[in-house]
Amino acid sequence: MNAPATVLAIEDNAPLRNMIQRRLERLNFDVHVAENGEQGERLARSIQPDIILMDMHLPGKNGWEIAADLKRSEETRGIPIIAVTAHAMAGDRERTIRAGCNDYISKPIDFHILEEKIRYLINGTAVPVR
Ligand code: MN
Repeated sequence: MNAPATVLAIEDNAPLRNMIQRRLERLNFDVHVAENGEQGERLARSIQPDIILMDMHLPGKNGWEIAADLKRSEETRGIPIIAVTAHAMAGDRERTIRAGCNDYISKPIDFHILEEKIRYLINGTAVPVR
């Protein structure tokens, strides 16, 4: 059995951050969390997670700026990023991809869809339908 994949979740809303951690741990991911972009960038460099799940609306640097930073840095540019956007706004989504994010998901998060996106980006395979 493979070691669990490591997910870094950057989310400033504490209840949502805790829920993301709990739900992803239940799906057997090794989950690390950050509450702002600066902390997230630091952890991305030190942990080298398999994937980053990032809220785009954060205090201080927003998700678009952080994504651009992570993709500019040789240390972190290979880590796929899933953007979490507050609205299903088409403009927001396009901006996440332009900023270097690999995929996006809207709030409220559908964890079944999120799991598929994570596994697809990490392994290039879809999870079996349950
Ligand atoms: Mn937020």
